[in-house]
Amino acid sequence: TEKLDIDAIRADFPILHQQVHEKPLVYLDNAASSQKPRQVLDALREVDERYYANVHRGGHQLSNEATSLYEESREAARRFLGARSTKEVIFTYGTTSSINTVAHAWGGANLSAGDEILLTEMEHHSNLVPWQQIAQRTGAKIKALPVTPDGLLDLDQLPNLLSERTKIVAFSAASNVLGTINPVEEIVRQAHGVGALTLVDAAQAAPHKPIDVTEWDADFVALSAHKMVGPSGVGILYGKQALLEAMPPFLGGGSMIDTVTIDSFTPALLPAKFEAGTPPITGAIAFKAAIEYLEQIGLSNILAHEQMLAEHAHQLMADIPGLKILGPDPQQKAGIVSFTVDGVSPSDIGMMIDTAGVAIRAGHHCAMPLHAKFGIASSARASFYVYNTREEVETFVTALRKVLMILG
Ligand code: PMP
Repeated sequence: TEKLDIDAIRADFPILHQQVHEKPLVYLDNAASSQKPRQVLDALREVDERYYANVHRGGHQLSNEATSLYEESREAARRFLGARSTKEVIFTYGTTSSINTVAHAWGGANLSAGDEILLTEMEHHSNLVPWQQIAQRTGAKIKALPVTPDGLLDLDQLPNLLSERTKIVAFSAASNVLGTINPVEEIVRQAHGVGALTLVDAAQAAPHKPIDVTEWDADFVALSAHKMVGPSGVGILYGKQALLEAMPPFLGGGSMIDTVTIDSFTPALLPAKFEAGTPPITGAIAFKAAIEYLEQIGLSNILAHEQMLAEHAHQLMADIPGLKILGPDPQQKAGIVSFTVDGVSPSDIGMMIDTAGVAIRAGHHCAMPLHAKFGIASSARASFYVYNTREEVETFVTALRKVLMILG
């Protein structure tokens, strides 16, 4: 049973009400980036029209106002994440910059030859490549938890892959290709059992389900505002306070220092220590409006709505010849439906379905190892969000059938 008034929600998103190729836009590329409601668009505009100045450079009225809004947004993010303190909530430029911060700053200081980094086969390149870079630098070794043919993490193999050599386990809370929602607490518990830290890539979890970093007991968590109805260019790195205090800063520059001489510096206290340079001021402030928008709808309601849409898509797609959906049942995932059709190129599907007004994505979705595991180079992906409707799912599948008749 539907708890949400989707028409009212859709009315908040101006961009959805347009035609592309003379067809009503059906936007199903939400796993790449979501759209912004009026509340966020208004916040962006209001900041730049009334409050904009550099933050933390103090002294004048506008800067003080911008700084307090920036800190209010940090508090909103703290609450959203379930973090204990705003010292643990770092504004970054997105998930990629959050993960790079941990891989390079923590990894550079704590990894050496013989150490192991445990990843999974379903990671986005942004939770693979930074670890590969730091492994090359330090001599640490990378291992990966396998994915089952159903698109779940093979947890039976976790105990065999963990040992006292494992220094960090970095994994996604939800997959951007399969949608799979992973058992974060269980993986964290087992990692901690061998003394390893954990980094949770929450880029695809934070927009779609309730999260609580304290309940997870995760050591580091990364997310991006642009996948959760917020602006692009802004993200969060959560880290446990003691860990952030113990590790060196990553980027050096203004704001992240306490004192500087010509050949040395001392770092600032948290969270400034990890916020070198001018942050994405407008976006970080407007991120609060995105968080409040999602909280008001309720993250559990959002997940239920997406799972209903995914269920509908799975049913409608079931009898399409040669079509295979990657990943688990709708009840085990967020609203992502990636698929292949025998003998048909995903990029042809993506290009042709676009002419029907349906925006999906085709490619490797920044997860080449996962596609390789399934023996394919690419897939087509429809990804749903809170403003998508059953009718849009039907439009998508009808358009897909037409495209396949032409291509097949
Ligand atoms: N991890 C996952 C699971 C993602 O889906 C994405 C975005 N596609 C990222 C990391 C990278 O996020 P960003 O590009 O915002 O840094």
